[in-house]
This record gives sequence, C-alpha cells and structure tokens, in this order.
Amino acid sequence: MKLTEYQNLKDYNTFGMEVAAQRFLQIENADEVPSVIREYLQEKPYYILGGGSNTLFTKDFDGIIVHPAFTGIELMEQTSDDVVLRVAAGEPWDNLIQYCIKRQLYGIENLTAIPGLVGSAPVQNIGAYGVEVKDTVLKVEGYVISTGEPFSLTNPECRFAYRNSIFKQELKHDCIITYVWFQLSKIKHFTLSYQGLAKALEERELPLTLHSVSDCVRKIRDAKLPDPKMVGNGGSFFKNPVVPIEQFTELTVQYPDLVGYDAPDGMKKLSAGQLIEKAGWKGKRLGNAGTWKNQALVLVNYGGATPNEVLQVAETIIHDVKTLFDITLEMEINQI
Ligand SMILES: Cc1cc2nc3c(=O)[nH]c(=O)nc-3n(C[C@H](O)[C@H](O)[C@H](O)COP(=O)(O)OP(=O)(O)OC[C@H]3O[C@@H](n4cnc5c(N)ncnc54)[C@H](O)[C@@H]3O)c2cc1C
Repeated sequence: MKLTEYQNLKDYNTFGMEVAAQRFLQIENADEVPSVIREYLQEKPYYILGGGSNTLFTKDFDGIIVHPAFTGIELMEQTSDDVVLRVAAGEPWDNLIQYCIKRQLYGIENLTAIPGLVGSAPVQNIGAYGVEVKDTVLKVEGYVISTGEPFSLTNPECRFAYRNSIFKQELKHDCIITYVWFQLSKIKHFTLSYQGLAKALEERELPLTLHSVSDCVRKIRDAKLPDPKMVGNGGSFFKNPVVPIEQFTELTVQYPDLVGYDAPDGMKKLSAGQLIEKAGWKGKRLGNAGTWKNQALVLVNYGGATPNEVLQVAETIIHDVKTLFDITLEMEINQI
C-alpha cells in the first residue's frame, strides 16, 4: 500500500474539482484490505474512492481516502454455455468490456465506456441502454469496515434496484468491495430494447456482433456525453424520477411529448434530462458550471468551477423542476 499526505484529488475525480485529501491510501493488493481497515479506518472520516466518476467533492477532505487499485480478471469456471469471472475492484470497467468482446462473452456490451472501476459497478448498479450490471453479477466479495469481517453476497443479497443496492443502503460507507463475480454467456444474444441503439445499428447496416454493438454504444455516448478528460463532469447528475401514473397522465395534458417508461407498482419513470431541458436548462451555465449542450442531465465544469458553483447549478435545477412539474429530483452522484 502507498500512503500520501495532502494529495490533490483533481486527477482522481472526473468533475475535476481542485480539492485535497489530508491522507490518500492506495491499496495495491486485496490481501492488504483487513490491515487497512484495522490500522486506518477505525476513525471517520474516510471515503472509498474508485475512479471518482460518480463522486462530487464539495470541499477538501479532512480524513483518509482509500483507493483500491488492485487489478486482475480471473476465469473461475466455464461450461459450454457460460463463464464465471472474478474481477478485482481496481480493474477499469472498460477493460472488462474489452476482455469480454475479445473472448465472445455476452451480457455487458451495452455498458461499454461507462467510466470508473469494477468495484464501484455494483454500488449504484450501473446501467445503460436497457442493461444493468445486476443482470450479470453473480456475487460480490469484500469486507465490512465496522466489523472487519469478510463478506460474500449473492446477487439477491445485494438487493439491486434502479441505481441502488445494499452498498448504497445498509453498507453505505461501511464496506470495501474487493472482487465482483460475473456470469457471462457464450451464447450469442443482444439487448436492443433501447430504441436509439437498435436504430443506430440498423442505420449502420453492420452485422450484429459484440464488437458492432459495443462500438455503436461508444459512438452514441461520444455524441451525447462530454469526455471528462476535456470537460469535467460526473455523468448523469440526477436519477430519473419515478412518479405515480396519475401524476404522469396529468402532466401529459400540458406536456404531451413527456417521456414515461413503465416502472414497477403502477409507476412511471420519467426522463430527468427531458424535465431539466423543459425547465430551460440545456446548455445553460452559471459562472463556470452548467449543463451540457447535448444532454441537460449532465452537469459540467466548464473550467475552474468550484464545488459551490456546481452545487448552485444543481440546487437551481432542483428548484426549477419542482416549480414546473412538482417533482423533486434526487442526486445520483455521491456528494462528499
Ligand atoms: C461521462 C460519464 C458517463 C457516465 N455514464 C454512466 C452510465 O451510463 N450509467 C451509469 O450507471 N453510470 C454512469 N456514470 C457514473 C459512473 O461512471 C458510475 O457510477 C461508475 O460505476 C462509478 O465508478 P467509479 O469507480 O468512478 O466510482 P467512484 O465515484 O469512485 O465511487 C462511486 C461510489 O462507489 C463507492 N466505491 C467505489 N469503489 C468501492 C469499493 N471498492 N468498495 C466499496 N465502495 C466503493 C464510493 O465510495 C462511492 O460511493 C457516468 C459517469 C461519467 C463521468
């Protein structure tokens, strides 16, 4: 492990916030996790940081940041139909995508190009283009910080839901995930329920392969989302709100083009991006922060934005959407 004092976190968060951590501990081997918990995490504050693509640092961090940096993809089992992989928390998510495409393993190709590390993927149950990581996660291994005990949680025990899991509930800030196990299929199949993806594939007239689907997802994302290396951002800043069907029907009287997807228990999931856009926020900025010109759901750092500037934009958007639709947007990003 490697301990640094007064670490600048600018390169460790995709929003590019210029904040410092009092101490920064990089874990280079999963075996070190129990001693890290014993020696460094008996007192708060601490924060487990992956790639920092779902984290908004709002000020300097007066504690210890723990960064699991151990990598590796192991093939644990295989049958004629599927394989089981055990992937270390510090492995970049997109490396796993490349690994699967190379070996013709189906299941996560729609999640191409989501930034971040594998250890964070189950935390908010990452999802895109009709697929969520919960569809392929077999189990998650790690340690509970408060007890120091190891855990191995099966898929149902992780209690995955839309951008949610046990790691954002009971185990929030109380665990270090060390390995995620995936079950991926050798049998050719694709999820093309997301219209934009199906249409883009059709237009390109390419044969349906893992490579073409992944490539298409990457191109759609590149056109819609800012590259954090160029423009600081944390992806979708808010969750898509889920409202009762009656409220949705009422809103469509005034806004007939309002998008609503069926959600469990007779609810409708709306597009937060559309609501923000209708509130006049697409491509708008306040000082050095604002929303992205091609996707209002993405808040961006136009250069040198302070955490307060980003928060002010977020709060104004919440206020404006509430006033217009009587819907309270909830942040998807972790505010620290
Ligand atoms: C341009 C852009 C596009 C994005 N697109 C999508 C998208 O399409 N779909 C989607 O779902 N998300 C998307 N995101 C959000 C983000 O990429 C994902 O949430 C990703 O999984 C975060 O990974 P990270 O390693 O950067 O997480 P971090 O921001 O470092 O951490 C996220 C959370 O996980 C916890 N955590 C991290 N590692 C561990 C660990 N080993 N053990 C325990 N807890 C841990 C942290 O404490 C924190 O609570 C996007 C972000 C950006 C910037």
